[in-house]
Amino acid sequence: MRVLDTAALLHWPLPQLSGCVVFSQREELANLSSDREMLLDGADLQWSTPSANSLERASKVAAKSGDLGGLSPVDLEILALALELEATLVTDDYRLQNCCLVAGIKHQPVLTDGISERWQWQLVCSGCGAISNEQNVSKKRGEYGNCGDCGSPYNIRKK
Ligand SMILES: [Zn+2]
Repeated sequence: MRVLDTAALLHWPLPQLSGCVVFSQREELANLSSDREMLLDGADLQWSTPSANSLERASKVAAKSGDLGGLSPVDLEILALALELEATLVTDDYRLQNCCLVAGIKHQPVLTDGISERWQWQLVCSGCGAISNEQNVSKKRGEYGNCGDCGSPYNIRKK
């Protein structure tokens, strides 16, 4: 079971598009690409609305991870649905990925370029060369955080 964020609705090929989505994504997608929005009826999608209870859980998770201010109402609904279904959340949004980590649910990227699937990545401190034991290297460039030893920013490199 997986919940797709709007980037997946926008970028994935139609035959690959199967999963759960929230109704409010339809309008969001229509604003981004009306052509794409019209194609959605041919996709294997389950449209739903998260419960008020799940929305409250999602807000709590996002507040805990510090991401609440950066998430749109649609993002929160997507997160709430993933929590409700205990589904894998498909997203490239690092805030949503962060929330998944805090909530203990799985996430997977929307855009896999093939390279990141074949290669394993690690974070290496640009100052002292220490290697982070962070396993989930999927954040955006420049947002990998700083070395716990010397405070210099991490760089990403192939294992
Ligand atoms: Zn360091």
